[in-house]
Amino acid sequence: MHDNYLATMPDENGFFGKFGGAYVPPVLEAPFAEITKAYKEIKNSQAFLDELKYVRKHYQGRPTPVFFAKNLTAHCGGAKIYLKREDLNHTGAHKLNHCMGEVILAKHLGKKKVIAETGAGQHGVALATAAAYFGLECEIHMGEVDIAKEHPNVVRMKILGAKVIPATHGLKTLKEAVDSAFESYVSQADEAIYCIGSVVGPHPFPMMVRDFQAVLGYESKEQFAEHEKGLPDAVVACVGGGSNAMGMFAGFIEDEDVELHGVEPLGRGENLGEHAATLTYGEEGIMHGFNSIMLKDDKGEPAPVYSIGSGIDYPSVGPEHAYLKEIGRTQVGLCDDEEAVAAFYTLSQLEGIIPALESAHAVAYAMKLAKTLGEGKSILVNLSGRGDKDIDFVVDNHPVPNAKF
Ligand SMILES: *Cc1c(COP(=O)(O)O)cnc(C)c1O
Repeated sequence: MHDNYLATMPDENGFFGKFGGAYVPPVLEAPFAEITKAYKEIKNSQAFLDELKYVRKHYQGRPTPVFFAKNLTAHCGGAKIYLKREDLNHTGAHKLNHCMGEVILAKHLGKKKVIAETGAGQHGVALATAAAYFGLECEIHMGEVDIAKEHPNVVRMKILGAKVIPATHGLKTLKEAVDSAFESYVSQADEAIYCIGSVVGPHPFPMMVRDFQAVLGYESKEQFAEHEKGLPDAVVACVGGGSNAMGMFAGFIEDEDVELHGVEPLGRGENLGEHAATLTYGEEGIMHGFNSIMLKDDKGEPAPVYSIGSGIDYPSVGPEHAYLKEIGRTQVGLCDDEEAVAAFYTLSQLEGIIPALESAHAVAYAMKLAKTLGEGKSILVNLSGRGDKDIDFVVDNHPVPNAKF
């Protein structure tokens, strides 16, 4: 791993090795190039950095704490487990970190609207929040099936003033929402920008979203030093598209002694369609405008994916994760539904924190890793979000275990 990694990766064209790039239809080339150019201009401007710093502190409530989960540590036995509390970031997850950045960029470009797709609705809610704060219009495309399934998030987006547009063709889920949002963007690219919800999509989004989420890693590094000498031995985060993990990893990527673990959802098992463990079981391929590792069906199309964590069931993954795995800088772990639910209850009952089911994957994996690493070591886990959105589903399907006290 060379010095200055973050400043030199990706290359000019958005490639991390062979992964990344911008494979978009000709009509979208100019709009995406405009975003790349604008981001390059403002990313080092003092006014932009000041504005981001201001909203993070005074609106989002950053920095979110890093705390020593002493009960969880005692329960597992072995390495100390520390948690980065993104559940305490405004809106209850890490996604607002990049949405605020994206909307400031839109404002800088003189746009009056932001457009995005959303799957489970988490990105839609975060973007609608950022748009409300900055006084921009917000248009969210969502599959009709997802609209029915994720009712509370649809209501939230509407309350926040966003327009929710149903994608009514095909399977009526995320892929169709992406198509619908791209189509709408083409027709109004002079007054709107597209805002992607993870470190995925065409260049510059994998880089830009990583940079906005890097606040997680930078804050954690400083805060960890208040607890322990030196650095954590391992950093752990769940990987859907990969933004919360990439944000954490960014703070430690040049510290070769720090192991970086991304945790993928194994869902109900290793058969295609039962999981969303893309880096583990996928192969190289292009979808949604970038080259990465993806899960394909027998026709080479994006395969159906499943996880109990609705924010991590994506058939591709951020290109930088594909690259970092290939060069051996990161390790990829797995956590199935059952382990995630067990960790959901364990963290709730031992530490008084109800984690998002996505984040529970990282916690479950860290609990195993704590035993493997052993005493004298420490693990920093990103708790990417809070579990309020998941409580009804969890208690209806997995009864609350007997109280421990
Ligand atoms: C969306 C979401 C994720 C997955 O997205 P990444 O881009 O992989 O970080 C993880 N946790 C929570 C709470 C989410 O809302």
